[in-house]
Amino acid sequence: MACRPEIARLPPYNAGLGTEAVKARYGVASVVKLGSNENPYGPPPGVKAALAGLVEQVALYPEADVKLRSLLAAELGEAEARIVLGNGSEQIIRMIPEAYVSPGDRVVTVVPSFGLHILDAEAMGGVVEAVPVTRDCAFDLTALIEAVSKPLKMLIFANPSNPVGCMMGEADLRALIDACPQDCLIVVDEAYREYAEIDPAYPQAREILRAQSRPWIVLRTFSKAYGLAGLRIGYAVASCEEIARTLGTVRDPFNTNIAAQLAAIGALQGMEHVRQGVERTVRDREAVRERLERLGLAVAPSLGNFLFFRTAVSSGELAERLLRHGVIVKPWKETGYTNWTRVSIGLPEENERFLAVLSVVLESVAAQETVEA
Ligand SMILES: *Cc1c(COP(=O)(O)O)cnc(C)c1O
Repeated sequence: MACRPEIARLPPYNAGLGTEAVKARYGVASVVKLGSNENPYGPPPGVKAALAGLVEQVALYPEADVKLRSLLAAELGEAEARIVLGNGSEQIIRMIPEAYVSPGDRVVTVVPSFGLHILDAEAMGGVVEAVPVTRDCAFDLTALIEAVSKPLKMLIFANPSNPVGCMMGEADLRALIDACPQDCLIVVDEAYREYAEIDPAYPQAREILRAQSRPWIVLRTFSKAYGLAGLRIGYAVASCEEIARTLGTVRDPFNTNIAAQLAAIGALQGMEHVRQGVERTVRDREAVRERLERLGLAVAPSLGNFLFFRTAVSSGELAERLLRHGVIVKPWKETGYTNWTRVSIGLPEENERFLAVLSVVLESVAAQETVEA
């Protein structure tokens, strides 16, 4: 049966293989999973206690969202009525164009990109312009300003970027916001905020946006620094109650489950664990960067829990060869970036195994090319 043409055009989501699938397909005994920016240190220890009474509660519809939203409101210094929870922030990334993007509306984002920023807008008939990063892997402010200077329904991008890792600093963020039409919805996805804010130059997007009377949404997630990716919970802070209410109307009722709500409440009590994990990851990221550069690879500057690097061999082939050694990375598929790979920063021993396998694979690719030449 024919689906809507907007949906027929979309590619399937490129989620990659999981640990068990890789073990089964490649016959490897152990797998290092560095393809999805998951947190190797796991959630704060308090999450276990928070989930202790879970089974006793599963017969009832979840209602801890009320407590979670009030905790978030207090922590963020924002009104509870402007906070919207999602089954992962991915769900909110979909709800936003469902609520606001009509067929033919222009949407601006960046490329390489977090795929859903493009796909979810296109699914609603949005016409997406994705502005490439510069040659040195920074946001291209000039090109972005030009792109937002035409009629525009929505600007959406992650800061820091996924997969590149680059940051838009305060002055650039202000200039970009100023260039947007006054009624354009500005969505800043801060999935990696906790890693980025170690850098004092990382901007306070909410403060900058708040100072202007514009519609905006800032997205956050418990999937990365809080280590709750498996439970699917994230949230949006909206500029006004009306936007939060509108998102509420496209939201599935009870969209976040009781386990996710309880775990998120528990995780918010464990900020010391979160901070330690972030600090280790940021330190190890820079060590991995140096090693990749010593292998002769171009590596983008990153403020996230991952690195984006370029190889002579295509990323698809590189990823396939790494899989044979039990190492999962994310090969980039977007046009123009198919020699780029994103690797998450794991535990130190996982990073070591990735680096060791990578150098073996790069040598074997080089040797093969010499033979073929
Ligand atoms: C990981 C990630 C998300 C978070 O997704 P969840 O659905 O909350 O797990 C959102 N945006 C970006 C850019 C990400 O990298």
